[in-house]
Amino acid sequence: KVLAAVLLGGVHDGPPTPLLGSVLSVYGQQLALLHRSRTDALTGLFNRQSFDDSMTRLFSDAAWSRRRQHDRRGRWCVALLDIDHFKQVNDRFGHLYGDEVLLLFAQLMIRSFRDEDLLFRYGGEEFVVLLADVDQSMAGMVLERFRQSLEAFAFPQVGRVTATIGFSIPGEALPAGAILAQADKALYFGKARGRNQVHSYERLLARGELAAAPAGDDVELF
Ligand code: GH3
Ligand code: MG
Ligand code: MG
Repeated sequence: KVLAAVLLGGVHDGPPTPLLGSVLSVYGQQLALLHRSRTDALTGLFNRQSFDDSMTRLFSDAAWSRRRQHDRRGRWCVALLDIDHFKQVNDRFGHLYGDEVLLLFAQLMIRSFRDEDLLFRYGGEEFVVLLADVDQSMAGMVLERFRQSLEAFAFPQVGRVTATIGFSIPGEALPAGAILAQADKALYFGKARGRNQVHSYERLLARGELAAAPAGDDVELF
């Protein structure tokens, strides 16, 4: 798998010098190390640490003013995906099959979402997708499409697996914890209503089905 390419300037024809070779080799090792520290070993998706970094990068005050400066309307949607009754998968089929479900779930995510979207394993059987440049209806559509393809997928041995999804599209700078709390409220709403469904925090709020999340709320995810 290619992680990076290096473009060398001012290189003459002829065989590469040994020095160049060792510099590139050290650089390559550093990149591989960095890559490993950002990814989840089981699924290959970005890990929790990387998620925290991305949230800071995308939702800080600085990020918002940068976007305004460039007059980019693009908003990011934060979606939490939690596999339904995953404990039962482990209980019935064993941990190895549970791990296999997590791996296949991640591959389904990679196939479903666009290249510019960011995919994370948040922990356990919880995943996050950061959808680039979407509005409420687009985010709802894309996530609903994923929910349906998951529902239709036959996991070897295990069979049918579903997930409940909650998302939020913040319209202003908010602490990462507060954004997650919003998406989590939408997710929790779906869990309470029977699971295997997609809900938007902003839409639930507008319909009066949720109390507003207090700003800066500390989150304890599901
Ligand atoms: P809900 O529909 O409410 O989300 O129910 P649930 O069973 O999915 O939720 P719960 O949080 O009760 O259980 C999550 C389970 O996920 C418990 C834990 O054993 C399992 N789990 C967490 N990480 C891993 C992992 O890396 N591999 C496997 N096989 N199981 C894991
Ligand atoms: Mg969970
Ligand atoms: Mg779960």
